[in-house]
Amino acid sequence: MLRPADARASALWVNVCMTQTLEISTLIADVREQIMYLQELGVETLDVKLPERVASGELRVEGKLRMLVSPVSSIVAEREVAKPAPLRPPGSRLAALPSLSKLSSAVPPRQTDIPMTEPKKESLSVEMMPAMPEPTETIEQIQAEIGPDCMRCKLSTLGRTHVVHSTGNFNADLMFCGEAPGADEDQQGFPFVGRAGQLLTKIIESIGLKREDVFIGNINRCRPPGNRAPEADETIACKPFLQREIAVVRPKVIVVLGATAAQNLLETKVPIGKLRGHFHDYLGVKVMPTFHPAYLLRDPHKKREVWEDMKLVRDYLNTTR
Ligand code: SF4
Repeated sequence: MLRPADARASALWVNVCMTQTLEISTLIADVREQIMYLQELGVETLDVKLPERVASGELRVEGKLRMLVSPVSSIVAEREVAKPAPLRPPGSRLAALPSLSKLSSAVPPRQTDIPMTEPKKESLSVEMMPAMPEPTETIEQIQAEIGPDCMRCKLSTLGRTHVVHSTGNFNADLMFCGEAPGADEDQQGFPFVGRAGQLLTKIIESIGLKREDVFIGNINRCRPPGNRAPEADETIACKPFLQREIAVVRPKVIVVLGATAAQNLLETKVPIGKLRGHFHDYLGVKVMPTFHPAYLLRDPHKKREVWEDMKLVRDYLNTTR
């Protein structure tokens, strides 16, 4: 037989539990709505730094929440979020129950009260991926702008014969990118036409394509004296033209040939031996660094690794067709 005092305590406890449930439901609905809004803005992750103890009493949230905004249902706490204490069984002493006002503060603050709705700048970290610019020009326009007698860097005064522009299919899925023309290219005015170029043609054909299917260019368009690597100021002057061409062609994969080209395009100092063998990203385009054909002529044993890299490229292209 339940005593009147116990019955009142039980009724009060049920009331408290319903209040908690309602508030938590409202909180979840509000958070969900907020996440959908952030999704609309393109936000993918949200760091919310919460005070060490948001609420005192029965429910505590500690540490930092990292929310994956997409999908909406995925909310991952980087640190443990304490669960509410188990409900106190009816019949326990009323004095042991938290007061209604305390319970109200024990529920985590409504979504509209926590920092997420009024994010301080430092609490919102949005990882924005740089995007490939929309093309507003053609390859012909870019190359006409560079011109046949470009003087934008000192390579123009160091014995070049031709400005060597990119060639090939302007709608190619696959692009090859070297560092700069060599002697044969400088003489003929086209990229990859010497012995290294002939080997590149074989590499292209090894994955079932023809040379005319792909787009081929160099980061620098003028031959450095003695085949030295282009210097930083020379690359800074010339690389933007290649980047504009990439934005026009929009290949699915760029194979960068040799350490200098790979490090320049990817803006890294990682050696080619570590870069090759897996895809990297350039503004959403897959990039596969591999050894330069001229290096393969000196060390044919490296052809096997190039073949491994090209198989990855071939397989990726096949999955996107
Ligand atoms: S390397 Fe490029 S920027 Fe320098 S002169 Fe040649 S085309 Fe112009």
